[in-house]
Amino acid sequence: MDNDATLLLDLDGVSVHRVELLEDGGRRVHLTTADSSARACPACGVFATRSKGRALTRPRDLPYGERGMEFFWHKRRWWCGEPACPRKSFTESLPQIPAGARITERLRAAAGRRVRDAGSTVIQAARDLHLSWSTVMAAFTVQAREVTGAPLPEVRVLGIDETRRGRTKWEQDAETGKWRLVRDRWHTGFVDALGAGGLLGQVEGRTTADVLAWLSTTELTWRKNITHVAIDMSATYRAAIRTGLPDAIVVVDHFHIVQLANKMLSTVRRRTTAELRGRRGRATDPE
Ligand SMILES: [Zn+2]
Repeated sequence: MDNDATLLLDLDGVSVHRVELLEDGGRRVHLTTADSSARACPACGVFATRSKGRALTRPRDLPYGERGMEFFWHKRRWWCGEPACPRKSFTESLPQIPAGARITERLRAAAGRRVRDAGSTVIQAARDLHLSWSTVMAAFTVQAREVTGAPLPEVRVLGIDETRRGRTKWEQDAETGKWRLVRDRWHTGFVDALGAGGLLGQVEGRTTADVLAWLSTTELTWRKNITHVAIDMSATYRAAIRTGLPDAIVVVDHFHIVQLANKMLSTVRRRTTAELRGRRGRATDPE
């Protein structure tokens, strides 16, 4: 049934049967199944023909309009017609509204994207979409996998730098009484230094082993494309590159060179002032 309300709702697999205006101004949308594949038995895939009666589910969807909108999906239960099938009966389900789901898949996806792409916190997305924190977090985890699981963009110049993140956490071993590092405040970030690939990865720690561990997760063909690696003047990163990317040329990030040059200039200026005048620079005469 392809009526205007169905077109407006645009939710795959269902038709709008009628819309009821509630006392509080909200709307109750009565849905019926429009996709015949909902009749396919989830166990054997055979289309059922013998109805076992009706069932009602109330999945929640994306917010629409200023006042609430609720769904009543009037769906069918079916007897499976395949004699060899272990499943005797089942209730209709759709890709957008799987069996047992209390929210539509497009609402779930929207929740995950708010956190992944729009910079929303999990708690804010949960408030905006009237979902629980755990539902949004689970949706975000699924959405994030699309990005983290995607192949890395081709990179010619790899940038490696340390980032301070949070606090170091130590934990005391109850038996030996020794303290050990459980969370390093230093992370190592990997960026596409010349192209538009942005942040490629970030790992905890800043040792040679930390860098090598991340490099080992990348494809050999991807590593072969890297001609240069930009780092600060860190001996550990340099050692990691010599092992992990032996063909790449190490270059020093210009930011770090300027920083070091400025520092050296200040040292020389202070030393010269002290030698010539026997004193430090003054506020009125900073040399
Ligand atoms: Zn079956």
